[in-house]
Amino acid sequence: MSLTGAAKLAGVVGWPIAHSLSPRLHAYWLAEYGIDGAFVPLPIRREDLAAALHGLRLAGFKGVNVTVPHKEAAFAIAHMADAPASAAGAANLLLFGNDGRILARNTDSVGLSGHLAESLGVDALRGKTAVLLGAGGAARAAILSLDTLGAAQIRVVNRNRQRAEALAAALQSNVKAKLLAYGLEDWRTAASGGDILVNATSAGMKGNPPLVLGLDPLKKDAVVCDLVYNPLETDLLRTAKAHGHKTVDGLGMLLHQAVPAFEAFFGVTPKVTPGLRSVLEKALGQ
Ligand code: NAP
Repeated sequence: MSLTGAAKLAGVVGWPIAHSLSPRLHAYWLAEYGIDGAFVPLPIRREDLAAALHGLRLAGFKGVNVTVPHKEAAFAIAHMADAPASAAGAANLLLFGNDGRILARNTDSVGLSGHLAESLGVDALRGKTAVLLGAGGAARAAILSLDTLGAAQIRVVNRNRQRAEALAAALQSNVKAKLLAYGLEDWRTAASGGDILVNATSAGMKGNPPLVLGLDPLKKDAVVCDLVYNPLETDLLRTAKAHGHKTVDGLGMLLHQAVPAFEAFFGVTPKVTPGLRSVLEKALGQ
């Protein structure tokens, strides 16, 4: 639809940004709900982030999504933060208030819990043991999601074991689940009897070799979830399927994390539908 002079404006800041699926995602919903608004890609270098955010706010933007490499810096620039952003020390959403103050939010964890609840059922992980690969930003969000869904124990396994220990120590007071830390060399112990495996490393992403780990220590009916969504079917998911595990891909998390952002920018709560998913699958070349 064409824009009027009163169009609501939002976008996504990152560097680089050309690969981002967010503009297509928001454009789909803007058209679906007939909203007078636009969501644009904003390529912004690290050193320009603060000035660019200031300018976007003055230009009347409602806010921006934030992607690599700006999530921590965006959190630091904001004046206020919601609980998930404070726990993560990172923001994927900034909202510009009329009073000039910036609110940092992090919707990655609600994105993953929404996606897992939709794929597995809201109570599927209650009391269960989760095995989480990675100790970066996505792993932080995954700990909060798995805890929200009632996991009793989350075993954080990372190549750099100290990072896993630091993450578990930093988040333990924010969650009910028991957090345990392991190095990759302890994989078999860490994975033993796991009900769900979540890959929150960047291994297996287009251009990155996959992690080759035996899945046999997991329970036979364990779920395997990969947060990597490009490619949509990672080597990990292919292997898991071949071993009879139920699999959950990373695209749903991306779709669900955008729901609260769209709502905050444009005032409508959008639906994650098969039609939206197929538009993004096409964009990923599936
Ligand atoms: P990050 O902060 O850079 O963390 C990367 C993690 O991957 C670290 O734990 C790192 O281990 C580990 N890693 C990287 N290469 C590895 C390898 N070859 N072997 C073993 N471990 C390796 O990245 P992030 O922001 O957490 O993102 C991680 C992944 O999640 C990315 O693929 C991203 O696309 C995906 N993600 C998806 C969504 C979604 O909506 N689906 C949202 C956010 C992120 P060390 O600590 O040992 O270096």
